[in-house]
Amino acid sequence: MTHNIDRNLPLSTTFVLGAGFSKCADLPLQNEFSSLLVSEEFNTDIDKAITQAIKEFLQDVFGWREGLELPSLEDVFTCVDLSAGTGHHLGIKYTPKVLRAVRRMAIYRIFSVLDRRFSYSKDIEKVLMSSCKPIDAEYRCSFVVLNWDIVLEKHLMRVNPDVTIDYCCPCYDWDNPHTPPKQAGIPVCKMHGSSNWVYCDNCKSLFFHLSEKLSHRTKAGLIKSDFRLFNEKFTDRQFDAALGISPSERECKFCRNMVSSHIATFSYRKSFRTPAYSSIWYHAEKLLADSDHWVFIGYSLPEADYELKHLLKAAQLRVSHRKPAEKKRIEVIVRGDLSTRNKFERFFGPETIEFYDGGLSEYVSRLRE
Ligand SMILES: [Zn+2]
Repeated sequence: MTHNIDRNLPLSTTFVLGAGFSKCADLPLQNEFSSLLVSEEFNTDIDKAITQAIKEFLQDVFGWREGLELPSLEDVFTCVDLSAGTGHHLGIKYTPKVLRAVRRMAIYRIFSVLDRRFSYSKDIEKVLMSSCKPIDAEYRCSFVVLNWDIVLEKHLMRVNPDVTIDYCCPCYDWDNPHTPPKQAGIPVCKMHGSSNWVYCDNCKSLFFHLSEKLSHRTKAGLIKSDFRLFNEKFTDRQFDAALGISPSERECKFCRNMVSSHIATFSYRKSFRTPAYSSIWYHAEKLLADSDHWVFIGYSLPEADYELKHLLKAAQLRVSHRKPAEKKRIEVIVRGDLSTRNKFERFFGPETIEFYDGGLSEYVSRLRE
């Protein structure tokens, strides 16, 4: 690849961001996650109780022992979700109720891992600065994000502190829930949910907080009775003390029900149970179909994402019969991963793909100022 990227054209661009994008900001990749599930570094009383419960589950169900490699997160969540979701056991001990407790604790632990380290990336900032300038007060870029973390949001705010983000679904600002939801802004479709969202199962309101991982802060999804399933001695008072936040800080701003996290897990059959997901997936397909230019950053088109792959294919073809000569321009940015090139070329057709295997820094070095 020798040519420079011409940004003078008023293309509309949709970025598709995978785990490799967050890696640029120093977050762990998914395959590093499972070892962190039982890490001793999480050591508050709540954390220790969670580690103990997850260890017990992995030992009982997957035959895992200290020092052995852990099962993949996909395998763990698929087994838990498919059993609990259909009201079935996973062996005599793991009833749907216990499995749902394991799931809540594992998700909380994943949020702790996401919260563990972060650093701003100059390369991400440069990409955003070059692509996310409003033209005639209108943004010509949008984002389809497969990650739960808020690396994109943090960088968008750093590049432009006044930025508004449109999550493409009805949602409320956690700090100002009574202000009407903003419609204008940079469209960001978080396809699997987000760590800065919490959801109320009663009034079905979704809340976000742009600069912090709301799910983690509110200890969303942690329930007293879950802990007693694994340790009968865990008292109410111990739980409240260990949690370290008052119950009112975990309440829905509208109906006072306790909020929970709002993410779709790694499970192959992801549960898109809430109205937010229908809206997000609808808008993602529309944004992709309307864009002339797609940029995949750190996304390897895994087989498990078959629903997303279908959405991409439908978006690619939606109006291709009307403009056959104007194929979408598809750029794929990965780091040293040539097998991904093959996957993209086989899925989208080889002539549409421009491939960068030197990571985001290589891509940024070719951007025109
Ligand atoms: Zn509510």
